[in-house]
Amino acid sequence: METKPLLKVEGLKKYFPIQEGLLARTVGQVKAVDDVSFYVNEGETLGIVGESGCGKSTTGRMLMRLLEPTDGKVEFQGKELTSLTTEEMRKMRRDIQMVFQDPYASLNPRHTVGKILEEPLIVHGIGDSKERKKKVNEFLEIVGLSEYHAKRYPHQFSGGQRQRIGIARALMTNPKLIIADEPVSALDVSIQAQVLNLMQDLQKEFNLTYIFIAHDLGVVRHISDRVGVMYLGKLVEIADSEQLYLKALHPYTQALLSAVPVPEPDFKKEQILLEGDIPNPADPPTGCTFHTRCPHRMDICVKAVPKLREHSSGHSVACHLYGDSSDV
Ligand code: SF4
Repeated sequence: METKPLLKVEGLKKYFPIQEGLLARTVGQVKAVDDVSFYVNEGETLGIVGESGCGKSTTGRMLMRLLEPTDGKVEFQGKELTSLTTEEMRKMRRDIQMVFQDPYASLNPRHTVGKILEEPLIVHGIGDSKERKKKVNEFLEIVGLSEYHAKRYPHQFSGGQRQRIGIARALMTNPKLIIADEPVSALDVSIQAQVLNLMQDLQKEFNLTYIFIAHDLGVVRHISDRVGVMYLGKLVEIADSEQLYLKALHPYTQALLSAVPVPEPDFKKEQILLEGDIPNPADPPTGCTFHTRCPHRMDICVKAVPKLREHSSGHSVACHLYGDSSDV
C-alpha cells in the first residue's frame, strides 16, 4: 500500500521581534524557526531533535497553530492549516493533539482526572454524559490506569502516571496525529521506557502518527522511523532512523550521536566535543550557523548558507562537505 504524507510542512518560519525602549521599537528579530520543510507519513513517527532553543518546540506549536507562523505552509490531510479560521482550526484539533513535557503543568490541578479526560469530548461535542464517562474509563484502562483513578486529582499521581493521563487526554478525540513535545524528559529513566513502550503500543492499536520532539537522540531512536535534526532554527539533517544512526552526515548530528551512551560496555566510542555554546539566536553566525562550533569548518562555511539537499534516497543534509549546496 502506498504511504502518503499525513502532514506536509513547507518553508515554515517563526520570527520573534526584538523590541527596545519605551515605544517598543523593533530593532531586530529572532529567527526561532527559519525555513523548515518536512513531511510525516501516516502511521509513522518522525523524531525532531536538537539542543534547547533550536526551534523544535516552536515548530511543534506552529503545527497546531498554538503559535502563528511568520510564513510557510502546513498541510494536514491535504488541507492548508494556516489559512483556516479559528473555528475551523478548533475543529481540526480533534485530529491533531499534543502531549506536553510537563504533565503536571498541563493538567488542571483543580479538576479530577475524570473531568480532565472528559473535557476534550465536551469541547468537540462527542457523545452524551454516559457515553463520555464510559470512554473516560476505557481510556484510563488503555493507558494502564483504573476506573477509580477518575475521581482523583493530578497531584495524587506520580510523574509517570500523570504522563499516562496526558496521553489518555490526547487520545480521547481519536486523533490521527499526536505531537509529543519532550514527553518523557521530565521522567526518571526507568519510567521513560514504560511511557515510550506505551506510546508505541498505542500507535499500533490506533494507527497513530507521531511527531516526537526531544533533545535526547537516544530517546528519539527508540521510537522514530525517521529523524530530523535541528540547529538554530534550521533542519540540518533528516533521514531514516537507522540510516542516521549508522551514517550521520552532518557534523552536528555526528557530535550529538557521539554523546549517546552505547549498551555494549566494551565498545569505546569517541565523543566529539563541540567548541563553545549555541550562538545567540538574535545574532546568529553568518553562512552555516554551525560554523562557530564545527570541527570541519571551511572558508565557504562562513560565507554561504548550506541548503538542505538530498544526499542519498531519503537522506538530506545541509552542509558544504557534501557538494555545492550554497545559497550566498
Ligand atoms: Fe561544518 Fe561547514 Fe558543514 Fe557547516 S557547512 S556543518 S561549518 S562543514
